[in-house]
Amino acid sequence: MTTLPGLDALLPSLRALYEDLHAHPELSHREVRTAGVVAARLRGQDGWEVTEGVGGTGVVGVLRNGEGPTVLLRADMDGLPVLESTGLPYASVARGTDRDGNDVPVMHACGHDVHITCLLGATALLAAAPDRWRGTVVAVFQPAEETGEGARDMLADGFAERFPTPDVCLGQHVGPFPAGVAVTRPGPVMAASDSYRVRLFGRGGHGSAPESTVDPVVLAAAVVLRLQTVVAREVGASQAAVVTVGSIHAGTKENIIPDEAELQLNIRSVDPVVRDRVLAAVRRIVRAEAVASGAPKEPEFTSLGAFPVTVNDAEATAATIDGLRRALGEEAVLVLPQPINGSEDFGLFGTALGAPSVFWHFGGTDPAAFAGVDRESLAARGLPPEIAVNHSPRYAPRQDPTIEQGVRALLAAAHTWLGDAG
Ligand code: ZN
Ligand code: ZN
Repeated sequence: MTTLPGLDALLPSLRALYEDLHAHPELSHREVRTAGVVAARLRGQDGWEVTEGVGGTGVVGVLRNGEGPTVLLRADMDGLPVLESTGLPYASVARGTDRDGNDVPVMHACGHDVHITCLLGATALLAAAPDRWRGTVVAVFQPAEETGEGARDMLADGFAERFPTPDVCLGQHVGPFPAGVAVTRPGPVMAASDSYRVRLFGRGGHGSAPESTVDPVVLAAAVVLRLQTVVAREVGASQAAVVTVGSIHAGTKENIIPDEAELQLNIRSVDPVVRDRVLAAVRRIVRAEAVASGAPKEPEFTSLGAFPVTVNDAEATAATIDGLRRALGEEAVLVLPQPINGSEDFGLFGTALGAPSVFWHFGGTDPAAFAGVDRESLAARGLPPEIAVNHSPRYAPRQDPTIEQGVRALLAAAHTWLGDAG
């Protein structure tokens, strides 16, 4: 493991920052306090040009340090509507208003507070040691990752025109892996997720006279069953996809045929071609079943969120893995045999800005909890129930060495492009 000048001295303030962020989580698009904390910290570090309010509450810092590559480093900032039960002295008691107007508890249950802390640690060390690297760093603090909207909103806010074009986009996520370990893979590293609300229209009437109606309950039932054929009959056996109908609602009473039915669907896939195929099949089947039922109106699709497949560029990932191994230790970096089934919107930056991207996960859990867990199955299955995972009310990454390793990982990856930091 390489030494990183300045990191030890910085750690106490990073721990304090982390506890402050953890105690004050904010829901997606509401990261106002968080963005203020980020912008103030960044302005306190030498040389950063800071822009606030990008795509809502996003913050972008640019640090120019002579000729050289441009590296984009990204952290997400939002918390989740989860009631924290970690028992930590700095546990959140915050509440917020969700987009349906409900008062909900809020928690940094996905560890985005760790991401902010690590990126602000990396930006501090880059600013403090300009003689150790050349190029430009674009530090992106993104809102609303959990809803799949933040990256899109920042890009739609003129990101490409307002900030230097990156040669590579780098991002990381803390997760239920042993602290000190980083995991990634070339190619697809996280799944796509597409969610829809589907309204199916019928023509209501008396339960005793279905011949005078178009029954949306029967239509919905046919849709649910027929959708099960998409993965079974239209996706190759070596490909992965999931089509889940997680919600179905229609009607109020046994002798009334309702006017409409509503389904909520979630679709996961790891190959962009398979994703397009599955999404097209779902729409085709829903529309065709409506026609088959004699529905008076086309079904209505509303997106409830979309995350593309997160794809790691092969060459850039190989270089990043070398950097991570130098920083964290040879044994500490695992190449996953398959993608992680969660989803991310980080990949939108690389896609929109025409740059290769690399995303990795790093551990935040006590390594002792993994005794007996096969290293190969870390990302896929077989975690003991006492290991809390992201989005759990008990999810609490340890501060040590997680924060330090997250800073090291980001810098090691960045220096792969910016030049040697020793
Ligand atoms: Zn999450
Ligand atoms: Zn997350």
